[in-house]
This record gives sequence, C-alpha cells and structure tokens, in this order.
Amino acid sequence: MIAKFSDLAGKNILITGASRGLGRKMAEVLATQGAHVIFNYRGDESAANLLKEELISLGASNATALLFDVTNTVQMKEAVEKFIESNGAITGLVNNAGISKDQIVLRMKEEDVAQTINTNLTSAIMLTQILSRSFLKAENVSVVNISSIVGLMGNASQIAYAASKAGLIGFTKSYAKELASRNIRCNAICPGFITTDMTHALDEKVKDAYLNTIPLKRMGDPEEVANLVCFLLSKASSYITGETIKIDGGLYI
Ligand code: NAD
Repeated sequence: MIAKFSDLAGKNILITGASRGLGRKMAEVLATQGAHVIFNYRGDESAANLLKEELISLGASNATALLFDVTNTVQMKEAVEKFIESNGAITGLVNNAGISKDQIVLRMKEEDVAQTINTNLTSAIMLTQILSRSFLKAENVSVVNISSIVGLMGNASQIAYAASKAGLIGFTKSYAKELASRNIRCNAICPGFITTDMTHALDEKVKDAYLNTIPLKRMGDPEEVANLVCFLLSKASSYITGETIKIDGGLYI
C-alpha cells in the first residue's frame, strides 16, 4: 500500500544511492507522488536512463539522474549546483547511499573503517552542507537521513557500520537544532531488516536467527520504508524535526 502525499507533487527531491534497494524504491514511490525525482547513481548510464523512463511512467513530474560518488565532494558539489542552476532549489533530500563491510574487531582494516564512515556519514554531512545555502532561500525543506537500527542497538561485527549510523543520528539532531528557526527540518529513519541486496548477502542461518528476534516475524518491505520517507518529506510531518524513527517490525522493543 502506497500512502499519498499531495504536496510532494512537483517537489525537487534528491535521493543518493538510488540505483537499487531502498533508494530505488523511494525513487519509485516518490514518482507515484508526482515529485521531480533526482536520483543519484555512480556509473551505469544505461540503467540510469531506464530508471528515468520508469519514474516518468510511474507519474514523476520529472526525473533527473545525477552522476556522482558520494565520497567525492568535488564531483557531488558540481553535480548538485549545476542541477540547481537550471531547475531551482532542491527542497527534499534523502541521504540513503550506504555500505557495510562487516568484520570482527580483530580483523577490521583501517581502509574499510574509513570507507564505511566516509560513505555512510561524512558524505551525508557534506551533501547537506553543500545544499544548505539554497535550503535557506527555499520553503518546506526536509532532510531525511537513512540510519539503521544497528546505530541504536549496536551489532557484533558491524563496529564501523554501527558507528557511522549512530553518527548520522547525532548529525540529524544537531542539524535540526541549528536550522529549525529557518523552518528546515531534519529527521532520521532506523530500518531494521528490510529485503534488499544488503540483506540478501546475509547467511541463511543468520537471517533465520534475526527473524526469530523480530516480533512481526518477517523482514520489512522497501515500500514500507519509502512510505515513511514520503511522510517525513511531506508537510504532513511539519511539526516533526530532530526525530529518529524506527521501522523494524518491533525488533528494538
Ligand atoms: P544496497 O546495497 O542495496 O544499496 C545501497 C546503494 O548505495 C546502492 O545504490 C549503491 O550504489 C549506493 N552507494 C554505495 N556507495 C556509494 C557511493 N560511494 N556513491 C554513491 N552511491 C553509493 O543497500 P540498501 O539495503 O538499499 O540500503 C540503503 C540504505 O539503507 C543504506 O544506507 C543502508 O545502510 C540502510 N539500511 C538498510 C537496511 C536493510 O535492511 N536493507 C537496514 C538498515 C539501514
């Protein structure tokens, strides 16, 4: 079931890491709301063109593919500033791109820790900073950071990932406090286990063990996360900022 938020029609909304998984589903659901969906991808141009066509056919008022690696601040700045110059302000941002390089503490490599923190946390802070000047001149700005339940609970073998996701929550609260007087909102979402490539990669035994700990006894569907993202981007959530919302089938209870 897709929830409908009429004020998202025509809104310029940027989602990072939207070529697959949760980001792609967010792009598709935002397209059904009539948004101008700006999706970030890293390289496969023909796949990006296909996604653009799909988003338009789903009802997007427009669809734009932005090529950049979120860890390359120069490339990211150039891409978003060029977009704003010809299309006007981006008023919705979803910092979604993320990686996990799971390893037990004794085997962790410094470059993996750095790459995880850069991709999941530093990039979100930098992109939000790059957009902040134009946010200040715009109306109804909403930033949504995709954290994780692991950022709240911790998880064995996910030290860097959990630290990056916990960091996103601190960033969310600080940004919300700093920009609230300008009516710019910022919230974080903590998904539990949602069916995407990231969770397909888990061992079947590990998956079964997780399922037993989820009160709703199933993994989440990307559409359920996309609905929450739409709510937070919409004026329907106009009095919510600095919040961290779990979407985990009760895992955290
Ligand atoms: P995924 O691996 O399917 O997708 C991740 C996306 O990020 C891909 O499109 C990938 O290309 C992109 N990406 C990675 N590094 C990038 C970079 N340097 N530059 C640009 N794009 C980059 O994973 P997913 O499950 O869809 O996860 C999306 C977000 O949700 C992540 O931040 C993840 O940590 C978070 N999350 C997922 C789950 C889950 O159960 N799937 C749970 C909690 C949080």
